[in-house]
Amino acid sequence: MAKKAHIIGAGISGLAAAVRLANEFYEVHVHEATQQAGGRCRSYYDAATDLVIDNGNHLLLSANHHALAYARSIGTEAGLVGPERAQFHFVDIRDDKRWLLDLGNGRIPTWLFDEKRRVPDTKIGDYLALAPLIWASTDTLVGDSIPCKGVLYDRLVQPLLLAALNVDPPKGSAGLAGAIVRETLLAGGQACRPLIARDGLSAVLVDPALTLLREKGATVNFGHELRQVLMAGENISTLEFGDDAITLSPGDAVVLAVPPRAASSILLDLETPKNFRAIVNAHFRFDPPHEMPPMMGVIGGLVEWLFAFDKRLSVTISDAERLVNAPREELARDIWRDICKAVPLSKEIAEGPLPPWQIVRERRATFEATPEQNALRPGTVTQWKNLFLAGDWTDTGLPATIEGSIRSGDKAADLVLKMR
Ligand SMILES: Cc1cc2nc3c(=O)[nH]c(=O)nc-3n(C[C@H](O)[C@H](O)[C@H](O)COP(=O)(O)OP(=O)(O)OC[C@H]3O[C@@H](n4cnc5c(N)ncnc54)[C@H](O)[C@@H]3O)c2cc1C
Repeated sequence: MAKKAHIIGAGISGLAAAVRLANEFYEVHVHEATQQAGGRCRSYYDAATDLVIDNGNHLLLSANHHALAYARSIGTEAGLVGPERAQFHFVDIRDDKRWLLDLGNGRIPTWLFDEKRRVPDTKIGDYLALAPLIWASTDTLVGDSIPCKGVLYDRLVQPLLLAALNVDPPKGSAGLAGAIVRETLLAGGQACRPLIARDGLSAVLVDPALTLLREKGATVNFGHELRQVLMAGENISTLEFGDDAITLSPGDAVVLAVPPRAASSILLDLETPKNFRAIVNAHFRFDPPHEMPPMMGVIGGLVEWLFAFDKRLSVTISDAERLVNAPREELARDIWRDICKAVPLSKEIAEGPLPPWQIVRERRATFEATPEQNALRPGTVTQWKNLFLAGDWTDTGLPATIEGSIRSGDKAADLVLKMR
C-alpha cells in the first residue's frame, strides 16, 4: 500500500515536497488555507491593468539548481527564460549613465580582469575587498565585513544584496550574503544567468505542479486551513482543520510548509523569525520599446529593478517599509517618473497621464535577513518523528528565496522518504 504524506501549504516549498513525494509513489494530500496555490509566488488577473500579473517580479539565477530541477520535474524548465550570457543592464537615473555588467558564461569569473566587462570606474582591488563575505559567519553584519560605500558598493553590491536580503545591506547577515556571493558571482557567469518566468509565476512554477500532482492521484484541497495538531507520544496523531479532522495512521508523514506565524500558532513551542520586510511592486500597462532589455538595475531613484514584459513594465522596490502606507496614486506617479528616465521614454509620455497601473505591497514578503532573525530559523526535523518543516524561513542557509524554499521542500521530502 502507498504511504501517505500530508503537505500543509501549497506555496513553492509545499509544492516541491508534494511533487517529490508523488514521484516516489506516495499518496499525497495537499492542504492549502486559501483558494489559490503559490503563496508568495503567484499570478492573478488584475482588473486595473486588465492583465495577468505576478504578486511580485521574481528573479531566478542559473545557480538555483533546486529551482531548475523542480521546474524540470514539472516540465517547465523552458519557461524560465534568460540570455545566453550573464549580462545585467544598469542605469543611474541621476546622470543617465548606462552600463552593462557582463559576467560572461564561464565557470571562472574572468570578467573581473576585464575593465570593459566589470562595473565602470572600479578596480580589481574593490572586488578583493568583498572577500571577507565568502567566509563570513551568519552572526556577522555585512557592514562589519565589507566596505559599504564607494562606486562598487553603489553600483553593484548594494543593489545585489538589497535584492537578495531584502534589508538595508549593512544591517544584513554577512553569512547569508556570503552564501549568495559564493553560489553566484564567485561561480562565474554560468551561475549568474538571470531567469524569469516570462509567462507568469503560476503558469511556470505553480499550475503545472498541480496538474502533475492530480495526474499522480494526489488531492489538493483549497480553503483547508490547518488549525491544530494533536500529538500522541513521539508522533503527530491528528490534523484538525476546523470543520474536519484527519487521523494519521502509523507511517503517515506531515510536511508543514506554512509561513512562520502560521507554523508557530500550530506548534506553540516553535521558535521562528518574528520580523519581516516588505517588497513593493508596481505594474504599468505599457508596451516596452523593442530595444529595451528584459531587466535593468536602476540606481539613484525609488525604483530598484525594472522588468519589461509583454504589454507591461513592472518594477521592484525592496526593504519597502517606508512605502507600505504611502498614498497609492502619489507612489505610482513617483515610480512612473523613474521608469520614464530609466527606459528612457519621451517627455510627452513622462508628462502625460499615467498608463493603467497597479501597486502590490507585500508587507511580509520575507523574514528579515539579519543575524538575529536568522538565528531563529528552525531546521527541518522537529521533535515529532512524522512531522517536518519546510519554507523559505527555515534554516536553508540562504535568504528567503525560491531556491531556499524549494531546497527546504526537497529536504523535507527526503526525510519523509527516509521514514520508510
Ligand atoms: C514581492 C516578492 C518578491 C520576491 N522576489 C523574489 C525573487 O526575485 N527571487 C526569489 O528567489 N524569491 C523572491 N521572493 C521570495 C519567494 O517568493 C518566497 O521565498 C517563496 O515564494 C516562499 O515560498 P514558501 O512555500 O516558503 O512560503 P509561502 O509562499 O508563504 O507558502 C505558504 C503557503 O501556506 C499557506 N498556509 C498558511 N497557513 C496555512 C494553514 N494553517 N493551513 C494550510 N495552508 C496554510 C499559505 O496560504 C501559502 O500558500 C519574493 C517574494 C515576494 C513576496
